Amino acid sequence: MVQMGAKTTTITEYDVLQEEMDLLKNDQKEQKTTSCEEQSQLPVSKQEIIWTNVVFITLLHVAAVYCFCNYFFTTKYQTYIWAFIVGGIGGFGVTGGAHRYFTHRSFKAKLPLQLILILCYTVSGQNDIPDWVRDHRVHHKFSETDADPHNANRGFFFSHVGWLMQRKHPEVYRKGKTIDMSDINNDPLVQFHTKHFLLFKLLLCFIIPVLVPVYAWNENWTEAISSLAIVRYVLNLNFTWSVNSVAHIWGSKPYDNRIQPAQNLMVSIVAMGEGWHNYHHVFPWDYRAAEIGGYLLNTTTLWLDLFSRIGWAYNLKTPSKKLIQEVAVRHGDGSWREVPETTEHTGDYKTS
Ligand SMILES: [Zn+2]
Ligand SMILES: [Zn+2]
Repeated sequence: MVQMGAKTTTITEYDVLQEEMDLLKNDQKEQKTTSCEEQSQLPVSKQEIIWTNVVFITLLHVAAVYCFCNYFFTTKYQTYIWAFIVGGIGGFGVTGGAHRYFTHRSFKAKLPLQLILILCYTVSGQNDIPDWVRDHRVHHKFSETDADPHNANRGFFFSHVGWLMQRKHPEVYRKGKTIDMSDINNDPLVQFHTKHFLLFKLLLCFIIPVLVPVYAWNENWTEAISSLAIVRYVLNLNFTWSVNSVAHIWGSKPYDNRIQPAQNLMVSIVAMGEGWHNYHHVFPWDYRAAEIGGYLLNTTTLWLDLFSRIGWAYNLKTPSKKLIQEVAVRHGDGSWREVPETTEHTGDYKTS
């Protein structure tokens, strides 16, 4: 069956459901074994603190609060609009690029879109693509175990930002080596981007966003740096981090009650549709990363659908409604409701 035009691949077969269920069971068995083994062998308290990261991340947040309080009323409105646009570009680069395209390969992209995704991602100022992808693939395969880089069982702070302030748990490295990264390592675009990553990051995340308001509408340097390079950057980071923390702690579980990732509306708003996290962990290969939410609460999907209309995104994977229903009825917390055809991708949504 084909949904949403010829460019979308729909997976309908019941055996796919069985396969997904088996995979989920195997993952859970592996996670349990890992947790028990490692708790005795590798106490998490032994993880070395990276003090440079502690100082940098702390100062960055203090600076963001200071800048917000001091320059809120002196910043030109055009600069706010520009900061919102730059934030959206960086956000889309993370959600549509690093996450749905590079990590999960939930759709295929022609070269112009690949370029757009990688450039947008650079605007967010996060780690390079191979790092991001490995962390996230390990996170999915070993969620909530010591091998999960931002294991939410270690609390809100650790899963939000604490994991970036210390060396990774040895199990993350060990299990990380079992992750297939061949597609990323053999991608010439990613190789080029990674080789010149620092230059691209400085230019696209900090220098160009700050220069535009200064030269285009005569913004003060202080206000431009404050709003674009500090406040916008800190918000971008925290919106991404909230998927790992908030959406792994609070929310309903209509698709699988046995896992921690949950449906979280607030995260979906700030992270452009990435907060429907219970669904995403059950169907990580769905390019929408959600069943509900429409375009309003899943702006990443809106952009991907627009790119699919012009043929730059294709083979967008999504499960059939039957498959989703089977999974939800079997393992959900009972809050799942069928999404009416008319509200699909229209901005309406329902969480329970
Ligand atoms: Zn997750
Ligand atoms: Zn994911």
